[in-house]
Amino acid sequence: MSQGPKELRQPLAAGDARLAVDRSAVVVGGGIAGVAAATVLAERGAKVTLVEKESFLGGRAGAWTETLANGESFEMERGFHAFFRQYYNLRALLRRVDPELSCLVKLEDYPIHGPEGEEQSFRGLPSSTPANLMALIRRSPAIGLRDLFKVSGPRALEMLRYEQQRTYARWDDTDAGAYLDSLAFPPRARRLFFDVFAHSFFNPEREMSAGELLMMFHFYFTGNPEGLVFDVANAPFSRAIWDPFAEYLTGLGVELRLECEAEAVSRGEDDCWVVRTDAGVLRADGLVLGLTVPGIQALVAASPDLNDWGWRSSISSLALTNPFVVWRLWLDRPTADGRAPFIGTTGFGPLDNISLFHLFEDESRDWQERHGGSVVELHAYAVDPLVSEQTLRSQLLDGLHHLYPETRDANVLEERYLLRQDCPAFAPGSFAERPRVETPFEGVAIAGDFVKLPIPSALMERAAASGFLAANQLLAMDNVRSEPVYSIPERGLIAPRVPWK
Ligand SMILES: Cc1cc2nc3c(=O)[nH]c(=O)nc-3n(C[C@H](O)[C@H](O)[C@H](O)COP(=O)(O)OP(=O)(O)OC[C@H]3O[C@@H](n4cnc5c(N)ncnc54)[C@H](O)[C@@H]3O)c2cc1C
Repeated sequence: MSQGPKELRQPLAAGDARLAVDRSAVVVGGGIAGVAAATVLAERGAKVTLVEKESFLGGRAGAWTETLANGESFEMERGFHAFFRQYYNLRALLRRVDPELSCLVKLEDYPIHGPEGEEQSFRGLPSSTPANLMALIRRSPAIGLRDLFKVSGPRALEMLRYEQQRTYARWDDTDAGAYLDSLAFPPRARRLFFDVFAHSFFNPEREMSAGELLMMFHFYFTGNPEGLVFDVANAPFSRAIWDPFAEYLTGLGVELRLECEAEAVSRGEDDCWVVRTDAGVLRADGLVLGLTVPGIQALVAASPDLNDWGWRSSISSLALTNPFVVWRLWLDRPTADGRAPFIGTTGFGPLDNISLFHLFEDESRDWQERHGGSVVELHAYAVDPLVSEQTLRSQLLDGLHHLYPETRDANVLEERYLLRQDCPAFAPGSFAERPRVETPFEGVAIAGDFVKLPIPSALMERAAASGFLAANQLLAMDNVRSEPVYSIPERGLIAPRVPWK
């Protein structure tokens, strides 16, 4: 599996390989961020307790068992997740339980379909910029050479000029929609290239920071040496990732407390940290809070000992973005031969993508072998909360039927419709206040996909990298060697070398 150039962002602290003293840590939250932190702390010899309020690990990338009407059980999840090749830290984490990453399979393409039959393929693009951009434009049905002259060059070049401090200072107050408008791309090209991409971060364009969007362009495309290709899990996340992790962590002596909710933290008498949960009190030398946005806000609100005003205000400034829908359908008809396992869509109302689970995931493939038919998943992100479920369902189905007409007459044998709201907002102007891994409290670090990191990173990769950095923060107090944290190049191809004023 290719691993292009990557940079070691955080040099290994020249310390001991393991803790020389007894140290304990409580990690609150069993999503990717919490599991990453617990893994590193336990590997270095800390006595770790992991507290997770749900009955399963994995958080938003977790899976839980449900039963179909015919009595067969299956693993439900928030569905399709793309594991990009530049997710170096997430991959390093997964290698703990799957050294060859055999749970991941490569998808050859990531086509985007528009309403007028347009299709934009990303297959086989060169992996480096600007060759990838040139190849993309050359093959695109939505943009010609003439259109390029109308595009705003300086604005478009911002995508190649990413540098964290400069980009956020210049663009964080602007909304992503206004930035995309200012590029003056032809409408079809804008839809195919940008609308799908912007929506993939769950935030509505007009409510998302253009600085964050430019970081995403850099991280996923213009600064990404691995190219815009990704892998998917070939089995439900529970079996592929989280059951092995439960075993791995338990083997390292981690105490897993599932279905246990942390309610408050306070300072103990002997300078330890005390975590009050709904199932008793835990004490530890260090804490990692790897929570959701509402989770950390509730915990901090109930914890007066976390008494730094500026930090508390940065936690309360966090917000969730609009809800999303994940709709999995078990149909009694197969999809047509040659369909892609995953497509992005644009111009079909709220529909953002369609995945055909029977083409890449073993549980759905087994179901198809037993019953025929297909297992289809529809996603809609940044959904307007005022639109009714009935309308959403009918718009999503219309999109499916239009793109895959063979599903029009299919009967829905089973379905699971999730409408959830737990993804972080990246609103214009929010970057400066966003909390970092480090906190003002000795022995306390935070992790999660909403945390501000010094490296370009997002979603699952940001969760994993922040978990590693949080563990490193605690280990540094005892001069213990840190976990390496990797990054794609931190600056864009033509980012100015002089500090930006
Ligand atoms: C539909 C959908 C599709 C996605 N697709 C992709 C994709 O293709 N690629 C990608 O990279 N990312 C994707 N993501 C994003 C990805 O799932 C998240 O970025 C990542 O899982 C976040 O991990 P986390 O550990 O930061 O947070 P979470 O997974 O939210 O973990 C936080 C944990 O804290 C627990 N918790 C909260 N409060 C408490 C408490 N008081 N006590 C104890 N535990 C508590 C929660 O139960 C949860 O398990 C997608 C997300 C969704 C919803």
